[in-house]
Amino acid sequence: MEFAWTAEQEALRSEARAVAEDAVARFGWHADSWINGYSKEFAKELGSRGWIGLTWPTEYGGGGRPAIDRLIIGEEMIAAGAPIAAMWFADRQMGPALIAFGRADQQQEFLPSMLSGDTTWCIGMSEPNSGSDLASLTTSARREGDEFVINGQKIWTSFGALADYCYLICRTSSEGPPHAGISEIIVPMSSPGIEVRTIKDMTTNRHFTEVFFSDVRVPVHNLVGVEGSAFKQTMRQLEHERGGIDRLVSNQALYKLALERADLSDPIVRQEVAALETAYRIGRILVVREVLHQAPAGFSAATKCFCTEHEWRVAQFASRVFGVDATLWNDVTKAMTYAPGYTIMGGTSNVMRNILGERVLGLPREPR
Ligand SMILES: Cc1cc2nc3c(=O)[nH]c(=O)nc-3n(C[C@H](O)[C@H](O)[C@H](O)COP(=O)(O)OP(=O)(O)OC[C@H]3O[C@@H](n4cnc5c(N)ncnc54)[C@H](O)[C@@H]3O)c2cc1C
Repeated sequence: MEFAWTAEQEALRSEARAVAEDAVARFGWHADSWINGYSKEFAKELGSRGWIGLTWPTEYGGGGRPAIDRLIIGEEMIAAGAPIAAMWFADRQMGPALIAFGRADQQQEFLPSMLSGDTTWCIGMSEPNSGSDLASLTTSARREGDEFVINGQKIWTSFGALADYCYLICRTSSEGPPHAGISEIIVPMSSPGIEVRTIKDMTTNRHFTEVFFSDVRVPVHNLVGVEGSAFKQTMRQLEHERGGIDRLVSNQALYKLALERADLSDPIVRQEVAALETAYRIGRILVVREVLHQAPAGFSAATKCFCTEHEWRVAQFASRVFGVDATLWNDVTKAMTYAPGYTIMGGTSNVMRNILGERVLGLPREPR
């Protein structure tokens, strides 16, 4: 088994690192930069390099390149804190979802502007009373002629205030069990009847929004896949969302800052560093297995759990290293207070453990 990177992969990594460092110099550094670092200008630059849709099939305008290349570029961008949020959801999730489930005319309409970095997409899944239990969502889309009429509320919608489109998960029928009757609809954020309210989180980030839909009319043409049977599509999207490098590397910049400051002559600190370095490498192997589709079905829950708990431990390490200085309200403080989000977004660690136990290991389900 050969674990070394090839010369081409090393060259790509160097190029990506240089591009990321240049972007940080121009647009600033961001912890968890695939959510917090928003720059449409940089997204367009990545698009013109062919670094959006790098792995999508060439017949859809993608680069047709190996998944490892995307992992390398993503790892360098996020580790450096470069602002990739304006393109990341489209690249990771919405483009692949449209390629898998969309019609040819939808692919022609929406993929080119994702690839060029011109459009930003937000994900409308979570609701005030429906997070982990997504199947309980109530935002509805009612058919009226050749339109859907959408009513309801989403919350925690990252960059809902900046996005051009919302990839909305909603209910088109309330017949049958909760996971039935769910559909995916593309909603232009400029549609009349949408109100977006920004939520400032405790780190002062402003990517979160609440999105209210009041009789929003969208053509039936914007339905992706099968009406009322989208729950499986959504679960497939979450597989894309959970097993990627963005779940491991998001506070690597904080780790580097802490490492510079740490007293490496202290044997306890050295033990901690060894444990974090080991965990990072194990996490990367798990992610590589995911992106090469070598992991068992559903295992991305374990990968997400392991990797984001590593990110949480990095923040704990940084708080011990910086001690009282961590309360100065600087980038370090913000990166540390942001850390609980890693094990919540994309599904909490508790829920990941349930999936692992019930669906991957086949353990008995708790009676409901
Ligand atoms: C940084 C960040 C970005 C986000 N971006 C988006 C976005 O762009 N779009 C979007 O739609 N959502 C987004 N979210 C929301 C995210 O998907 C939800 O927060 C997440 O799914 C958890 O849902 P909840 O917050 O409603 O918590 P709840 O589901 O209410 O969970 C509360 C607690 O109960 C536990 N729990 C719940 N069910 C079970 C169970 N069956 N077994 C054991 N424990 C359980 C959970 O582990 C948790 O500790 C984002 C969240 C964060 C932190």
